[in-house]
Amino acid sequence: MAIEASNGHAKKGRSKRYVYSFGGGKADGNADMNWLLGGKGANLAEMAELGLPVPPGMTISTEVCTYYYAYSHAYPGELEQQVHKGVTRIEKIIGRRFGDPKNPLLLSVRSGARISMPGMMDTVLNLGLNDNTVQGLIKQSGSPRFAYDCYRRFVQMYGDVVLGLKPESKTERDPFEKIIEEKKAAKGIELDTEFSVDDLCELVNQFKSMIQDRLHLSFPNDPQEQLWGAIGAVFGSWNNPRAITYRKIEHIPEEWGTAVTVQAMVFGNLGDDCATGVAFTRDLSTGENVLNGDFLVNAQGEDVVAGIRTPQQITLAASRERANREGQSEKDRQQYYPSLEELMPTCFATLQQIASTLEAHYKDAQDIEFTIQGGQLWMLQTRAGKRTAAAAIKIAVDMVHQGLIDERTAILRVAPAQLDQLLHPTLDPAASKERIARGLPASPGAVSGQVVFSAEDAEAIARKGQKVILVRIETSPDDINGMHAAQGILTARGGASSHAALVSRGMGKCAIVGCEALEIDYEHEQFSVRGSTALIHAGDWITLDGSTGEVFRGQVQTRDPNPETPEFKSFMEWTDHFRRLRVRANADTPHDATVAREFGAEGIGLCRTEHMFFEGDRIDAVREMILADDTVGRIRALEKIFPMQKEDFVGILRAMAGLPVTIRLLDPPLHEFLPNTEGEIEDLAGKLGVAADQLRSKRNALHEANPMLGHRGCRLGITFPEIYEAQARAIMEAACDLAHEGVHTIPEIMVPLVGFKRELEILRERIIRICGEVAQAKGTTVPFTVGTMIEVPRAAVVADTIAEVAEFFSFGTNDLTQMTLGVSRDDAGKFLSDYISQSIFPQDPFVSLDQNGVGQLIDLAVRKGRTTRPDLKIGICGEHGGDPSSVVFCHQAGLDYVSCSPYRVPIARLAAAHAALREKVVSKITDSARSKRTRTDQAIITV
Ligand code: PEP
Ligand code: MG
Repeated sequence: MAIEASNGHAKKGRSKRYVYSFGGGKADGNADMNWLLGGKGANLAEMAELGLPVPPGMTISTEVCTYYYAYSHAYPGELEQQVHKGVTRIEKIIGRRFGDPKNPLLLSVRSGARISMPGMMDTVLNLGLNDNTVQGLIKQSGSPRFAYDCYRRFVQMYGDVVLGLKPESKTERDPFEKIIEEKKAAKGIELDTEFSVDDLCELVNQFKSMIQDRLHLSFPNDPQEQLWGAIGAVFGSWNNPRAITYRKIEHIPEEWGTAVTVQAMVFGNLGDDCATGVAFTRDLSTGENVLNGDFLVNAQGEDVVAGIRTPQQITLAASRERANREGQSEKDRQQYYPSLEELMPTCFATLQQIASTLEAHYKDAQDIEFTIQGGQLWMLQTRAGKRTAAAAIKIAVDMVHQGLIDERTAILRVAPAQLDQLLHPTLDPAASKERIARGLPASPGAVSGQVVFSAEDAEAIARKGQKVILVRIETSPDDINGMHAAQGILTARGGASSHAALVSRGMGKCAIVGCEALEIDYEHEQFSVRGSTALIHAGDWITLDGSTGEVFRGQVQTRDPNPETPEFKSFMEWTDHFRRLRVRANADTPHDATVAREFGAEGIGLCRTEHMFFEGDRIDAVREMILADDTVGRIRALEKIFPMQKEDFVGILRAMAGLPVTIRLLDPPLHEFLPNTEGEIEDLAGKLGVAADQLRSKRNALHEANPMLGHRGCRLGITFPEIYEAQARAIMEAACDLAHEGVHTIPEIMVPLVGFKRELEILRERIIRICGEVAQAKGTTVPFTVGTMIEVPRAAVVADTIAEVAEFFSFGTNDLTQMTLGVSRDDAGKFLSDYISQSIFPQDPFVSLDQNGVGQLIDLAVRKGRTTRPDLKIGICGEHGGDPSSVVFCHQAGLDYVSCSPYRVPIARLAAAHAALREKVVSKITDSARSKRTRTDQAIITV
């Protein structure tokens, strides 16, 4: 242990507090202090204050973690004494002494970050055991078997977590488990429970010898040394690779650090009147308002989460449902899987009562860990339960109806990115499918992929762009990268609260757990299914339905999602009430426009006209236009394209009747439309009646070294006026024809890639002239506007002059990012992962806006644009328009709307509501409590 002198934080005469005690009906902290005590520590303190049965303990604050990393793994000088005092307080409440051979106090040492990071950091249980104190534990429990089992577990856990004795390769088994398995084989037994006291005692000694041999370390017998070792290990685990990966995925700041909670042990493994479990106050998969969860009789806490044994259901109803699903008789169910409600009715009733107290107190669905020792229920943790998007919405809406929370709170409870899950595909009911197994539906969605059996393989194969399903007996936190890379996760063991289930649900990833019929053979990379002939090898395709728990052979057809539940509808209506930003969609076809409108799009922010050019045999006419040698030839070809394009505009404008539709004139470099292969060239030459050589030389002439910086966007309109004129004509004719039908349309004609006022001035004048001609010919006028994309950095810089001739701006942040960062949007993949892993880019800048760089250009353009034209309408149509944090930025930058793909419209609507509501929270805080900002407020802002 390295303890340093105080770093000077201490106030004169009073040392800084690093340790917060709880238990015995009192607590130094509360739930609002999660930034300092971590979620676990803060909520244990809160529960203690509420008078709930919490084993006494103390939490070492996250500030110590920060200190630990700032001062080369040293602790503040005050810490030792404060921890000592904390232990003494626990001893007093419990009536046992730490390290006392006669009546020992055993401790658990656990991590706890501000936001829960399930299983990512380390835990040590049964701490304080050695050859002397184990005798005291025998006396306390009356069970030598129990005492030695605890001792065996402790040495194993400490050896792994604190001393670092782990498998050395992907194929090596856990060295401790290997010794256990060897002993079982030698004794001819199958279960841990069949070990005798002597066996367990021998295991302890074998473990210690292995530690000595492999690590050249003596196992620490001094409980104090054990305690500081465990505290250091937990702080150290903040920076283990899986925690780092998890933080990256969940965007948890590195500087937050973890707290460490040291708590008196209670035992769920002291006999058949003991149990340990996890309960959820509502169903976190569907949102239904029912208490549910899993438990194991005579087991220690980690056993449930680790998925080592398949747990039983807490409620009778759930237990029966499971038996039904698995075709188990009622008699078997009662014998093998009875519910807690049946087995320990008094504890069940207490749990029910505590669950409703906690929900009423926190006003949110809770995920609770409990242990029952000798018929007494103890609360070990409560936290807001991680839930699926469907559950998040249902719980939020139900709680508003129950009067527990208001609509604002409900909206802020659902993370915008989570809505993606609701928009996940489901299996096509009409598709033919062969079901091979069924497990517990842990996280929804329907996915297909090739089977892999290790997290490493999942990562490696997914990196090649292939879809994989990670199949494991159970997952461990070390699998986090592989789980992230996989399309879906299938495990043979574990319940709804196992690691695989919790992590997948949090990631919004399809998962099936506890698929007990699977016989997984890692060595031969295959699995069979008990009771069937199915044998699946690595690389074979399977399909998972995470909503039903079914596993199918091969690739099964999926169907687009339909999130339109009544709860979803009300929830989305509330978001519309609070947001200021409008949300439009990027859509190029009447079908996409209709889908977008159903998702709540308030117009089209980008209709890319070039996409229409590829459809059917239109491409031939487009190619003819490109290959024409003169204006007359181009006009002739354009006349062929014109009716088709007009028809599309009619469809899109009709689908968006009454709403604005921004139609962008042709943007890509022309060579993109030309054939690539020799066969295609020959074919086209035949169709056009020209020599293939002539085509080849035309194609070569169009070749550009940097096509994205070449002859594209408005530059095409400048060189070939007839192209943009034909498009403007098609738009206006469509609008006028619809006007004759009585359909109200709001066309907005957008010119891409403008960098100079003069470019837009020339093109605008032509567009207005053409539209005027059409209106006259059709005998009707449809008001329209002409604007530009801001996607060239120069355009942002001179936005004031461009705004003189633009009625609207739309930020094309795909190109703006490409040109501002000087990073090709098409090729960045080659080095992107290096840039992200080395923290040069916080994330992919083409996914989430580079707010400090590109964002400044946006701010500048908004400000300058509105100085010349105060009513300038401004939006964004790059991919960032559907990214939640970029949407928040757009709100703050004062944009009028964001535009994104149809399926992301609900996400953008919610993100826009969050931006508006957070702004209110922030301004309320700055107005009323500028000088006295509490940490709770800070937590609200930074969520
Ligand atoms: C953009 O550049 O952001 C944009 C929307 O246009 P495109 O992606 O078509 O270049
Ligand atoms: Mg662009």
